[in-house]
Amino acid sequence: MATDPLAARTVTALTEGSASMPPVGRERFIADVVVTCDEADAVHGPGVVDMEDGRICWVGPKADAPKACTTMSVNDIGGLLMPGLVNSHCHTPMTLVRGVGDGLPLQRWLTEAMWPREGRMTSEDAWWGMTLGSAEMLQRGVTTTCEMYLFEESVVDAAHQSGARLVMTPVVISESSRGFQDRITDLVEFHARHHDPAGRTSVGIAAHSAYDLGVGPVVELAELARSLDATLHLHLAETQKESAVLEERFDRSITRILHDHGVFGGRVLAAHCVWVDSADIELMAEDDVAVAHCPVSNMKLGAGIAPLVDLRAA
Ligand SMILES: [Zn+2]
Repeated sequence: MATDPLAARTVTALTEGSASMPPVGRERFIADVVVTCDEADAVHGPGVVDMEDGRICWVGPKADAPKACTTMSVNDIGGLLMPGLVNSHCHTPMTLVRGVGDGLPLQRWLTEAMWPREGRMTSEDAWWGMTLGSAEMLQRGVTTTCEMYLFEESVVDAAHQSGARLVMTPVVISESSRGFQDRITDLVEFHARHHDPAGRTSVGIAAHSAYDLGVGPVVELAELARSLDATLHLHLAETQKESAVLEERFDRSITRILHDHGVFGGRVLAAHCVWVDSADIELMAEDDVAVAHCPVSNMKLGAGIAPLVDLRAA
């Protein structure tokens, strides 16, 4: 998880969260400690965050705070006030199938437990799953989530209702009732409808993985993402065996295969990256690939331990 780089986005998200909420005017929050995560990593104790109409207008030490005007609502909340956490890789509607297939390794968990159930899921199910997961995340201080999922309209709607900030990356998978080209059309139209980086929703493109789609379709989706100036989101090197067929055919690691095919040429977010060696990490660093570290998922599925120290050092 990362933090949202602007102080007190949690407050912003929560106060902007409901369309039925009245305008908030000017508000002051006083906390024992304000962690800003700004460029200087400033920490103010005690600190103040002032907001106007749901947006932060001043952050700093309490001693330097401008005089509160009479119309300002002042909230002495104590504790820690910090930017919202960012969930950098999730399939949140799967909260509905939480716990199913526990103990299975990735391939059996996907093919025997998840995909049959997700195949019967409706857009309404996905809305409820996203709403539940979004509420759970907000309760724990996660105000932004990067979602890789189908039913993208439902996910956007549920996140909008909950007040969460969303990076929606509709996924392309091999087992789909939509043909590949029809799905591409879906993604382009969805991007045009919902991509709003100044607001609370931005849109990327997700290729599930090279082992599921094959290298060609991943290359095509990477080109599409670049043409839209969008983030390409994919699973990479999650388990040791998932890409064995491709790695044997190309006689190199899956990371090098994708690098050599230009997949990392744009803005790329790769999830898991457990089975990457030092040469792979060097390639990813060269291409500025962002890595979503998924320790809980990796532990749950026994996928392995990502070389986090080396990834961070690169
Ligand atoms: Zn995933």
